Amino acid sequence: MDAGAVTFPRKKTRQIMVGNVPVGGDAPITVQSMTITKTADHEATLQQIYALAAAGADIVRCTCNEPAAAEGLARIVPRSPVPIVADIHHQYRRALEALEAGVHCLRLNPGNIRKPEHIKAVAQEAKDRNVPIRIGVNGGSLHPDLYKKYGGRVTPEAMVESALTEIRYFEEVDFDLIKISVKASSVPLMIEAYRQLSEQVDYPLHLGVTEAGPPPAGIVKATAGIATLLAEGIGDTIRYSLTSDPVDEAKLGRQLLEAFGLRERKNVDLIACPSCGRAEIDVFKVAQDAMHAFADKKIPLQVAVMGCVVNGPGEARDADIGIAAGNKRGHLFVKGNNVAVVPEAEMVSTLVEWAEFINEHGIDAAVKRAEASAPAARKAAEEDRLRNLNDLGEDANNSEQTVALIRKDRAKASGPRQRGAVGFGRVSLGMGRVGSREMVGHAAVRLVRFGCGRPLRLPDR
Ligand code: SF4
Repeated sequence: MDAGAVTFPRKKTRQIMVGNVPVGGDAPITVQSMTITKTADHEATLQQIYALAAAGADIVRCTCNEPAAAEGLARIVPRSPVPIVADIHHQYRRALEALEAGVHCLRLNPGNIRKPEHIKAVAQEAKDRNVPIRIGVNGGSLHPDLYKKYGGRVTPEAMVESALTEIRYFEEVDFDLIKISVKASSVPLMIEAYRQLSEQVDYPLHLGVTEAGPPPAGIVKATAGIATLLAEGIGDTIRYSLTSDPVDEAKLGRQLLEAFGLRERKNVDLIACPSCGRAEIDVFKVAQDAMHAFADKKIPLQVAVMGCVVNGPGEARDADIGIAAGNKRGHLFVKGNNVAVVPEAEMVSTLVEWAEFINEHGIDAAVKRAEASAPAARKAAEEDRLRNLNDLGEDANNSEQTVALIRKDRAKASGPRQRGAVGFGRVSLGMGRVGSREMVGHAAVRLVRFGCGRPLRLPDR
């Protein structure tokens, strides 16, 4: 399905400018990441900023935790390809110095800079320079008074109150170039905090799950929190906070927005079938090889790797281009139509070469290019399809055998009730006389025969 066909109505927010990048309003949702170099080491930091920008970051944050970092910012800002946000820790003077260095935005944590006169001094200076500030509330560093007020716990209400208090200080000096984040490492907590905040303000919101941790669990947490809110129309800019190379953060942020259809695709969208008893290649390996081969190529196409020619071209007919395995050959197809046949060893290189061709010349040109080879490709695909069906039959996954087994077990179980019978939805499997612990193990073994013949895991009890 075309991602553009389904949209999530976005909550209207005010728009601010972070350097030359609009955030909020009807501006595209932006991706942020943060350098992990010492900001004082401006050459190393700039190198990382360039890598982040190339990976999809629209805005990059650098820490400004010491006087040397502020000096580093003065050297970084003029050479940076993207706007720079200075992350201020406990010293409001660093915020003033970062403004002097020319940064495009500040991030203040209300839990760390607490004196109203300091907050207002920074806001006044930012206002004079027309530089926005992110109010970056963090569940882990709330103001002690708020902890007390909310019973010694971090609650969504406490986080929202922290942000609203900071806004009031800013409004006292008539400063409204604000964006806000209310991050927490707990996904449900941050989701609820953002929901409540979004009900109360129309400032742009910066989404993130703080300290999400290393991949893959960190990616799951960050995606769960950010994606849930995006689907509700909340959020104007996002950051994955991972214990990982920040380049991964930028790539993931970009990929998430592309997956939602919220940003134009820049890189390949690689899809692959889950593989099954009919597969004629190691789909996982070929898909991995293809991912590496496309790597950072800027080819905004959907590309498919399919395990068999019986169903592959049809199942992936919406992909711009794809390849399916059959009889030690790769069957290349464009929009579901077979266009060429290549040896299996050349599947990935052929896929990349044709994708580059389509990217440069378009689908119609690819169809024209295939005029000579398409008839033979169709014939070869049909031969290999029939050969696969002949070798593996109509039921390559032994589904019918499993269905018969289920029916047999069901018939057995519908007799006098046996100890050990276990139900999975509407299916009951007779297990004979087994204890409750073995029951799950037995069920798992039998369930292996379902679906595509791949083991299904039951959760640990
Ligand atoms: S039938 Fe579908 S899942 Fe199975 S190998 Fe073919 S394309 Fe992949």
